[in-house]
Amino acid sequence: MKEIVVISGKGGTGKTTFVLALGSLFKNIVLADCDVDAADMFLVLKPDVKTESEFSGGKKAFIDKTACTECGKCIEVCEYDAISPDFVVDEIKCEGCGACVYFCPEKTIEFNEVVSGMVFISETRLGPFVHAKLNPGMENSGKLVSRVRNEAKKIAVEKEKDFILTDGSPGVGCPVISSISGADYVVIVSEPTVSGVHDLERVGDLLAHFKIKGGVVVNKWDLNKEKTDEIEEVSKKLRLDFLGKIPYEIDTVLAAMNNEKTVIEYNPRSEVSKSVKLIAEKLKSVI
Ligand code: SF4
Ligand code: SF4
Repeated sequence: MKEIVVISGKGGTGKTTFVLALGSLFKNIVLADCDVDAADMFLVLKPDVKTESEFSGGKKAFIDKTACTECGKCIEVCEYDAISPDFVVDEIKCEGCGACVYFCPEKTIEFNEVVSGMVFISETRLGPFVHAKLNPGMENSGKLVSRVRNEAKKIAVEKEKDFILTDGSPGVGCPVISSISGADYVVIVSEPTVSGVHDLERVGDLLAHFKIKGGVVVNKWDLNKEKTDEIEEVSKKLRLDFLGKIPYEIDTVLAAMNNEKTVIEYNPRSEVSKSVKLIAEKLKSVI
């Protein structure tokens, strides 16, 4: 079983459309959506949810005022400015470091796990699917991404699947590191722009740092052929496979989405579908 994680330097590069298209081309798969801040694979996959479970991202402090002497020690030690002058903890600002709990002389600060979201395991027409939903005000965390990936791995092992296709978190922060660590192969979806080249360099460095094999796809390549050539050059320098390029065909992409289909399902003969098929073949040959 191989896990392929698709990431991008930033959101909005067409990463999810690409993962869904791959989902139509790879057989015997599990799909996972780790782009928890913008989870939207479910819109196309229309999952039939089989199980849902709570996710706790960590602990938060709560001051029980009945025993509080208002000594102010908790405010003094909280580096996140999460405790108000009248000793109420702001749930959003509290990072759960536990310093106030440790230093409170009256031991009157509770420190409990909080539910920050839900994890769903579903069946879809393309295969089993794992995704998550954050509660309002909760931040995406590496822990939640790891939980989604672990659930996908468990299903893949139990059901003897050949591939896990994961829509990873964008950027280079904590969630993306959790998305790629230990993956068999990472596909970077890039755009032919100045920032696209810069983002590719940053993400490429990340893969090199974690010693993960990876390749590059340029989406909307025909919008800037020179930048596409530059991305191909940069990919070589970063020792990444250049997997191929996808043309800008917004009508097909939008129509597929509106019809709740992958681009391959919607129109397999479109230019965007043809290019993804070539990329999928190359991807199968390099992993
Ligand atoms: S440290 Fe404890 S006793 Fe002191 S103000 Fe904070 S909650 Fe109250
Ligand atoms: S747990 Fe840490 S972040 Fe939260 S209120 Fe206490 S000191 Fe501040």
